[in-house]
Amino acid sequence: MSKKRVVVLGGNFGGLTAGLAVSHELHKDVDVTVVSLSDKFVFNPSLIWLPFGKRSPSDLTFSLAPTFESHGINFVHGEAKGIDPSAKKVSTSVGEFDYDYLVIATGYRNNFAIAPGLGPGGNAFTITTLEDAIQAREGWRRFLDKPGDVVIAASQEAGCFGAAYEYLFNVSYRLRKAGLKKQVKLTFVSSEPFLGHFGVGGLPHGESLIKMFLKKENISYLVNSSIDHVDEGRMVLAGGEALDFAYSMVIPPFVGQDFLHDIPGLTDAKGYVKVRDTYQSELYDDIYAVGIAAQVPSPWQTAVAVGIPKTGFPTERMAHVAARNIASQIKGEPLKAHELFGDMPAVCVMDAGNNGVILLADKMLPPREHGVLIPGPQAHAMKLAFEKYFMWKSRHGYVTLP
Ligand SMILES: Cc1cc2nc3c(=O)[nH]c(=O)nc-3n(C[C@H](O)[C@H](O)[C@H](O)COP(=O)(O)OP(=O)(O)OC[C@H]3O[C@@H](n4cnc5c(N)ncnc54)[C@H](O)[C@@H]3O)c2cc1C
Repeated sequence: MSKKRVVVLGGNFGGLTAGLAVSHELHKDVDVTVVSLSDKFVFNPSLIWLPFGKRSPSDLTFSLAPTFESHGINFVHGEAKGIDPSAKKVSTSVGEFDYDYLVIATGYRNNFAIAPGLGPGGNAFTITTLEDAIQAREGWRRFLDKPGDVVIAASQEAGCFGAAYEYLFNVSYRLRKAGLKKQVKLTFVSSEPFLGHFGVGGLPHGESLIKMFLKKENISYLVNSSIDHVDEGRMVLAGGEALDFAYSMVIPPFVGQDFLHDIPGLTDAKGYVKVRDTYQSELYDDIYAVGIAAQVPSPWQTAVAVGIPKTGFPTERMAHVAARNIASQIKGEPLKAHELFGDMPAVCVMDAGNNGVILLADKMLPPREHGVLIPGPQAHAMKLAFEKYFMWKSRHGYVTLP
């Protein structure tokens, strides 16, 4: 009997883990093909350091083909353009692929339409993709020649708040190193209802801890804020308040990839695939979605809308759940793996230049029993060590390691 075909779309945290894990679950008795728009893995958590020259693009990327090929997985560098669920086919920029099971791990794209003046060629930088972070690096170099005030923001509907805080505190650290700390006014603008909400409802003492950090670093802040538009050198908030800047970085909201909208009933309005706790699509038993591509319903409504951070750790967990269930389906067994995003443990390290905070909680989303924030320089050391470990683990395809 011919081997079952599993096609994975996307090759970053979710796709890399899902492709390798499904092959591992089935002792390679499966035909896995990974199709990815990027031929490189990008370790997005280190994008916060790229604008300051602490990391170069080659430090946080590696080529995907050798990793997959060394594990007997076909790697295709191409862009998925459409899915035909009834014919079980994916059309891509490099041809069509038939599948028995499909995993969508196509992550996010930036939604710059949220406020005029954002995006490439706009008036504020972002760091959420490698290309964006390279632009932010050019801007930072120009800023150092001609310094002025700085505004760092997490826009309405943004979910990646950790990166916004990390960038803010890294900017503060870099200003001090450049001898500019006293002359530059640094302001943080966030859509969060309170400091340290992080899009996960906050953690015990989180708000007071972040307030203390901001006071120590002499950073002004505005919460519950949405950006109306960004002009050259000026951010205008929905309430009319204007903040002048010489350098600004905004974390925008994320949305799913456009082509997914075309499959009736597959996604929500943001282009995220509606999934069950098995990470199967709500509509199709043979289509899975993991990582940022998967929809996570928001358990709250805030005055200004905030998104949910689908970080690396839950992305890997979703990919393992999907891989186990695909293996069960192929073996004709009942599905064994079920795990809601909100019930997964939260493990995150937030860097602050030479300091940081470790966030640990029993669940990503409340109600929780335990949650703790541990500040200190060990968090910075941990982020450095985590980067090295994760890059090593991923490059070698050791996805069964924690
Ligand atoms: C600045 C920043 C800092 C972060 N910091 C942390 C952190 O400290 N800790 C943490 O845990 N998480 C962090 N995250 C979140 C983490 O990066 C995400 O959880 C992770 O990237 C999600 O992985 P993914 O595979 O779902 O999506 P992505 O990383 O977005 O990968 C999607 C993949 O799909 C491919 N693709 C896209 N469209 C197509 C298409 N049409 N066809 C084929 N392939 C396609 C892309 O090329 C890419 O390879 C951070 C994110 C950012 C942006």
